[in-house]
Amino acid sequence: MSQAPEPFASFVRAMTHLTDAASSEADILPGGRRLLGAMVADDNWLPEDFAWPDPAGYRQYLLYREPRARFSVVSFVWGPGQGTPIHDHTVWGLVGVLRGAELSQRFHVPDAGGPVALGRANRLATGAVEVVSPTVGDVHRVANAYDDRVSISIHVYGADIGAVQRWVYPPEGGRKAFVSGYDNTAANPPFSVELTESAA
Ligand code: FE
Repeated sequence: MSQAPEPFASFVRAMTHLTDAASSEADILPGGRRLLGAMVADDNWLPEDFAWPDPAGYRQYLLYREPRARFSVVSFVWGPGQGTPIHDHTVWGLVGVLRGAELSQRFHVPDAGGPVALGRANRLATGAVEVVSPTVGDVHRVANAYDDRVSISIHVYGADIGAVQRWVYPPEGGRKAFVSGYDNTAANPPFSVELTESAA
C-alpha cells in the first residue's frame, strides 16, 4: 500500500469529512460532485498501475476504501469501444471523467419485459460528473465514447462497491445478481491516506 498522491489524498480527506457530517445521501452528493469535478479536472496524478486497459474488458481498480466502507473510490479503465451491461448500484455513485469521454444511457425497468432507454445517451466529456442512486435513477449502461482510444473515469460509491450484491438487467427482461469485485492484484493495492492530517 503506497501513500496516495495529491490531489487524491485531499479528495479522500474532504469526502471523509463530508461523510462524517452527513445524515443522508442528499448531504453528500452536491459536495461530492464538486470535489470529484475538481479532482478529475487534473489528469496528472493517477499512477500507471491504475490506468492499464485490458483488451478482454474494462478494468475496475480499487483506489481507496474508507475504513468503515462508507465509501470507495475506483478507477474505471475503458479500452476502445468497451462498455458495461445494463446494471444498477443500489447505493449512491458519482462518475467523473478523468481522460477521454464516456456515454451513459439510463434505463427504466418495467415490472415485465426488458429495460427501456430513458432518452438518449448522455455524453460525458473530460471533467464531467454524473450521479446515480436509487433515488435519482440507478440503472444505466456506460461505455467508452471512443472506439480508438482509452478513456478513464473515477467513480465514488456509498459502500465498498466491489462487495455489494447488485443486478444486471438483460435486454430480454428479468435480472441477474452480480458482485463486481476489483481487478487489482497484490502488485497494485489501493492507496493509504493519512486521515488525521489537517483537512484545511
Ligand atoms: Fe454504473
